[in-house]
Amino acid sequence: MGSEGEVVVAARPGWRERDRCGVCRRRCPGFDLGDGRRRWRALDLGTTLAFVEADAPRVTCRRHGVVVCAVPWARHTSRFTRAFEDQAAWLAVNTSKTAVAELMRVAWRTVGGICARVAAEAQREVDLLAGLRRIGIDEISHRSGQRYLTVVVDHDSGRLVWAAAGRDRKTVERFLDELGQERCKQIELVSCDMASWIAGPIAERLPDAVRCVDPFHVVMLATDALDEVRREVWNEARQAGQDQLARRLKGARYALWKNPENLTGRQRSKLAEVQHTNRRLYRAYLLKEQLRQIYRLEPGPAITLLDAWIAWARRCRLPSFVKLAKTISAQHAAIAAAIQHGLSNARVEAINTQIRLITRRAFGFHSADALIALAMLTLADLCPSLPGRVT
Ligand SMILES: [Zn+2]
Repeated sequence: MGSEGEVVVAARPGWRERDRCGVCRRRCPGFDLGDGRRRWRALDLGTTLAFVEADAPRVTCRRHGVVVCAVPWARHTSRFTRAFEDQAAWLAVNTSKTAVAELMRVAWRTVGGICARVAAEAQREVDLLAGLRRIGIDEISHRSGQRYLTVVVDHDSGRLVWAAAGRDRKTVERFLDELGQERCKQIELVSCDMASWIAGPIAERLPDAVRCVDPFHVVMLATDALDEVRREVWNEARQAGQDQLARRLKGARYALWKNPENLTGRQRSKLAEVQHTNRRLYRAYLLKEQLRQIYRLEPGPAITLLDAWIAWARRCRLPSFVKLAKTISAQHAAIAAAIQHGLSNARVEAINTQIRLITRRAFGFHSADALIALAMLTLADLCPSLPGRVT
């Protein structure tokens, strides 16, 4: 027993585990005895805080220089035992933020550091980039939209396979570097939005891959164009002193946004009202809906409808849709490819929604690395099992 309410266990690595580099675990010549004893927080013994204590000798590694020796019960540079960290990571994936912090008696920020170490180790053991054929590359905002991550999803397994801070060409190129030349050749399909920072490096480094534009990005652009028309019409009504009309248009916002099959009775009558009072806005609504409809048809009719849509939007006299028609015809090949390959919107959206939820939970981690680690543990199946349970 140590001081009040603590158990301290003195430990020493077995002889097979001694004199190993903390980074690579290779056996190395000794350097010195280090500076004193080190302590690691272990899983509580009942309600009592527990610690492991040991000497921290150093070795000279040919690759890593003078480093503190590895110990079998903890990860390098950690102040916690391996079992403690595995349990904290498991809880971070499976329970709430407060539950982990309260149960483990550590700050949420500390949990972030633990996730980063656990995920880094798991990623050294599992090669998530092996056998990729159909991938999706996307950006996710975090920190209230001030920072971005680039994420790569495997369409076949539904797993997140890569994530890094930043949304630029360099980040995509880093992913392609890690993938390596041989595996780049195996990629058959890449889905993404219309941004050139993704399309550029994909065209250069994956010349054989088909680029597809994610359906929901296309529909999102149509929704934005519709909203622009709604704002214009609303401003005009206000300037003309038609307050009642302006108010009604404002109230119709959700009816215009929602998918028609989900409309309530009240929203449906709002929409009917728009049809009577404002033909421009209603035309914009129909343009949005028809574009969405394309993704519900078989490939043949879908592409016919896509072409008809472009022709209609070009001459619809609504500037935001005329502009969208230009964007869409410029991306025609990639949009048609998504339809032909039956790229599922549901899966891409599902994983994006999950990543967004994780970014919200990870608030308070103070580092993108910890956020990425939590996302990888959760969405790449890297979460360790609870200590002592074999799964
Ligand atoms: Zn080493």
